[in-house]
Amino acid sequence: MDDLELLHFTGTVWRPPYEAHSVLLQTTVGCTHHACKFCSLYGDLKFRLSPMEEIEADLKIIAGHQPRARRVFLVGANPFALSYERLVRLADRIRDYLPKVQTIGMFARIDDIARKSDGQLRELRARGITGLSIGTETGDDPTLAFMHKGHTAAETSTQCRRLDEAGIEYYLTYMTGLAGAGNGERAARATAALFNELRPYIIGVVSLTLFPEAPLAAEVAAGRFVEAGERERLEELRTFIAELTIPTTLMGHTVSNAVPLLGRLPEDRARLLGEIDDALARFSEEELAAYRRSIGHL
Ligand code: SF4
Repeated sequence: MDDLELLHFTGTVWRPPYEAHSVLLQTTVGCTHHACKFCSLYGDLKFRLSPMEEIEADLKIIAGHQPRARRVFLVGANPFALSYERLVRLADRIRDYLPKVQTIGMFARIDDIARKSDGQLRELRARGITGLSIGTETGDDPTLAFMHKGHTAAETSTQCRRLDEAGIEYYLTYMTGLAGAGNGERAARATAALFNELRPYIIGVVSLTLFPEAPLAAEVAAGRFVEAGERERLEELRTFIAELTIPTTLMGHTVSNAVPLLGRLPEDRARLLGEIDDALARFSEEELAAYRRSIGHL
């Protein structure tokens, strides 16, 4: 058996597209929050920490294959929930086995950042922890509340500014369709206004893709949530891109995007808006909806 098969990965492993070349290391399993209505990513997995012996065993195997690895991405829904002390210990252990590692990234929730002091954030940055992928989803407060996201737009603003102060780079997500039918324009404007206050290195755009296991499916069945159509989502994305004033990279090219988009802002804004207009001219609602129905897995 290849020793890579001995690595401790639990359930489906999620990583952002821009971490494709990073070493993946499991240090936590599941999500501390596990309450967002639209989410079915981690199923019934309960949050738990990986034992340090397990992590070291994995690092030993990885060191045998990629001794010159430069970036490590910690998998799990939000490893940044780990205490400051544990993150420091982890960063030190990673360098014991992989001395060339320069940076360590992971998924983080807004409340994970809030629980760390400014000094702790600076110290984590000094140890190479940077490039946090944050599932902000939207800057629209009614949507955040309805979806049980567990943070407000103001909290996103406060915590991301603290990351800016600490020099920790971060990547934000925007999920079109999350505000429901008729609310896309409002969500686009609120999210662009929020992100314009911040310095996201990358904005990852995804679109709501509802699976039966997600609690939101019951809300749809009960008539308390009506999904936005695909053309409304494209109009929403168009408004979002048109309203963004910050320099950033927009990555909307993963499976949930019926029309894949990728570019730098502001340089590529006209091209990106043109690609959305082309798609609106070429594809009917039914064609785009058929694409979404065909998605079996994110
Ligand atoms: S969207 Fe993220 S924070 Fe929310 S339940 Fe899913 S994994 Fe946890």
